Amino acid sequence: MARKHWTEAELGGAPLHPETLMMSYGYRPEWSEGAVKPPIFPTSTYVFETAEAGKAFFEAAYGLREPEPDEEGGLIYGRINHPGMEILEDRLCLWDGAETCAVFESGMAAIATTLLAHLSPGDVLLHSEPLYGGTDHFVHHVLHRFGICSVGVPPGGGADEIARAVAGADAARLALVYLETPANPTNTLADIALYADVARRHATPERPIPVVVDNTFLGPLFQHPLEHGADLVIYSATKYIGGHSDVIAGACLGAAKYVEPVRAMRTFMGSMGDPWTSWLLLRSLETLQLRMTRQMENARCLADFLCGHPKVERVYYLGHIGEDDPQYDVYRRQCLAPGAMISFDVVGGEAEAFRFLNALKLVKLAVSLGGTESLAEHPATMTHADVPPAEQRRMGITSQLIRFSVGVEHPDDLRRDLEQALAAI
Ligand code: PLP
Repeated sequence: MARKHWTEAELGGAPLHPETLMMSYGYRPEWSEGAVKPPIFPTSTYVFETAEAGKAFFEAAYGLREPEPDEEGGLIYGRINHPGMEILEDRLCLWDGAETCAVFESGMAAIATTLLAHLSPGDVLLHSEPLYGGTDHFVHHVLHRFGICSVGVPPGGGADEIARAVAGADAARLALVYLETPANPTNTLADIALYADVARRHATPERPIPVVVDNTFLGPLFQHPLEHGADLVIYSATKYIGGHSDVIAGACLGAAKYVEPVRAMRTFMGSMGDPWTSWLLLRSLETLQLRMTRQMENARCLADFLCGHPKVERVYYLGHIGEDDPQYDVYRRQCLAPGAMISFDVVGGEAEAFRFLNALKLVKLAVSLGGTESLAEHPATMTHADVPPAEQRRMGITSQLIRFSVGVEHPDDLRRDLEQALAAI
């Protein structure tokens, strides 16, 4: 395969939409015997034409010299780069308007590698609450072991709560802001622009404070954090980007000055996406817009149904945020649509939640989200089981909370399944 990136980004002078470019961007059939789709290259290493070429590739890859203008990095070894991952990274950049992207073997690999690349012992990490259980564990158990402190801002906290959290930490050591918005599992929003302003005020030219946003729940279609002041966007590509519950993957996107240290760390952690993962994600990206749009429409019907149901105490759904809610302004500024994640408290506690989950027929009882099939789970004892119970309660992760990822099935069938399962409570 040739190395020159192919960009067919416009037609008749007008830029093409990302959903159009997902079928072609970054690849030309003539590179691979006319194959319409990029082939999978199951090879660990690449032959250099000459020793001089190999030397030049390594110098560029390891930053030992400034690349020449328009110089393409050469293919070296599958832990550093490979064709499928490069095409995928180019395509993922389009949705978020990112300069560059690094793909990983999981969302957690993207998160862990990004945090390790940008934090050092003694640093303070400021984060929104709640966080996905795996991220919460990494921040509170793994980073703390390496002398990296963390301070959380209570769910939905505004300027005062952020200021209080920063004042309670060593502000001079503030090194990174990490947001998950909407948050897993409560759909709580964090105001990206507000946090970005805090980060800029505490940063110095020698000590930038990158703002990192986990955009897994709404992105890459319905929220674009880089437009609101974020420096890096993170995905569990296992979710909507993969979209078929058949691949684990992750990504980190943003300006090159923030992504390149992450890519370098990836090389040494060995956490890159492999050829098969990259190929599956390229296939999934072709239908991303269709899937996410249908899932969002389905979720709207089901959230309305749940809201009026006597066995449901409370529904956490972005499309229902009222104008008098402080989160309304953040939603209006930051989100383009409410997405397809709904959480809700059933009437009762864990026993009632389990009765509901055990009674579901069409909706599968499983963790993960964003796939074509609908899934439901119990965050307090499953995805967020590692968060201490008092912390769970403080963040709204109750024993009666169900997290529901809406798929692409017919909404009437899904509603009937919810109806009969709620009747079992
Ligand atoms: N971020 C969020 C919001 C998640 O929900 C998850 C997984 O559920 C992750 C990150 C971790 O991603 P992965 O399971 O692909 O490692």
